[in-house]
Amino acid sequence: MDKKVKVRFAPSPSGDLHVGNIRTALFDWAYARHTGGTFLFRIEDTDRSRVTDEYIAAAIDTLKWLGLTWDEGPEVGGANGPYLQSQRLDIYADWARKFIDQGDAYFCYCTPDELEARREAQRAANEAPGYDGKCRDLSPQEIKDYKEQGREAVVRMRMPAGETTFHDEIRGDVTFDHKFVPDFVLVRGDGSPLYTLAVAVDDVMMGVTHILRGEDLLSSTPRQIRVYQAMGLAKADYPLFAHLPFVMGQDNTKLSKRNGEVSIDWYRKAGYLPEAICNYLALLGWAPGDDRENITMKELTELFTIEKVNSSPARFDMKKLDAINGDKIRALTLDEFLAWTLPFMTNAGVISGSDQEIALVRSALPIIQERIVTLGEIPQMLKFLFVKKFQVEEESIPKINDGAAKEVLKRTLADLSPLQEWSHSEIEAVLRKSLIEEMGLKPRIAFGAVRIAVTGSTISPPLFESMELLGKTLCIERIESAISL
Ligand code: GLU
Ligand code: ZN
Repeated sequence: MDKKVKVRFAPSPSGDLHVGNIRTALFDWAYARHTGGTFLFRIEDTDRSRVTDEYIAAAIDTLKWLGLTWDEGPEVGGANGPYLQSQRLDIYADWARKFIDQGDAYFCYCTPDELEARREAQRAANEAPGYDGKCRDLSPQEIKDYKEQGREAVVRMRMPAGETTFHDEIRGDVTFDHKFVPDFVLVRGDGSPLYTLAVAVDDVMMGVTHILRGEDLLSSTPRQIRVYQAMGLAKADYPLFAHLPFVMGQDNTKLSKRNGEVSIDWYRKAGYLPEAICNYLALLGWAPGDDRENITMKELTELFTIEKVNSSPARFDMKKLDAINGDKIRALTLDEFLAWTLPFMTNAGVISGSDQEIALVRSALPIIQERIVTLGEIPQMLKFLFVKKFQVEEESIPKINDGAAKEVLKRTLADLSPLQEWSHSEIEAVLRKSLIEEMGLKPRIAFGAVRIAVTGSTISPPLFESMELLGKTLCIERIESAISL
């Protein structure tokens, strides 16, 4: 009988969640949804010098924003809580005590300096550096002496000679020789638990069936399995492991702050849609089985299987993310697009949010929906419609300050002033006739000058539509002031 699937996402947020974390969370979520199982969210915050309340709150917020809803975890609760490891310290301490009583773990009194000196000697002798088992079988007298010296003790797990083999759902069988997995610390001298203890205890106690996580944690698996053994878990009840391939940066080194923006919060602020981020990240190491690149969250949950996860590293490609984001923006209804846009407009200080402003934004959106890559571009593009005191941007002034440009603007003013019907098609017809046909100018030159005069910038939505939206009075006013600049 197959057990009901339970997967967990268990970050240690010591900063904003990054692309790698979220790719893991997404695969966890998709697998849970695909199998009709449970998605558990746990915060691994035993190291509170690195994991702060602020980062925890941000992690929770990021998952929500992405739509990766969880069935057990912070805020929603569940039968296996609490879901913050910092609130479970007694549980870990109890297990550590039990392991010591069983003889699986022991107190180690070695000081950091002593450990380092011995590792140095191992390196000099060309041996794998690691704990040498010195405190495995201390006599009562030795323990007494160490205590009298005031030494702090850590708790170490005894690793028997031999090897650990486990089946990884992505990589196949993986074997670790214990020569390279020395006795490891479970509890620090100050009594705080280490990751390996807390993660293994929680996965067992919370009933996790599948551990899908980043490949960087592959080498900690034999230690976790050792903890399962000490907990008395039958082998058939071990969670299954699936280590996801690394995400590499554009330059094929491991993704980091150096080679691209890695914080999900950065993408959110830049105006990427959660659907686009999830769609793109889903393709990092997984493929639906055809060449399709545009997938919805619903399709992802339908199609996601571990068999389709690739074992080789995936490369993060910003251009592809941009393309997907553009597609998702174009797929929005006008009301959805407006709802996404307004916070960007208010945060940038371009609008304060009055009904009138909102109506104008709404009417401007169709002309930019086809053109933008991120929502973050919108305030700059639509600013010309809202500025109280209009000014041409500094770097564009020279382009409308020569004789030829002045001629264009004078002619524009003269021919547009009598126009009755202020529509983009009428404006375009008039200007094409006067500037292109009659004055014989190249469109880029002619319309470029008009664009700067009315929008203040060389970058704007399509010119004639922009002029229609801005209205005749303001257009004429701005062209006049550009002439007298
Ligand atoms: N808390 C660990 C980390 O963020 C991951 C735990 C796990 O997935 O096993 O690196
Ligand atoms: Zn020791």
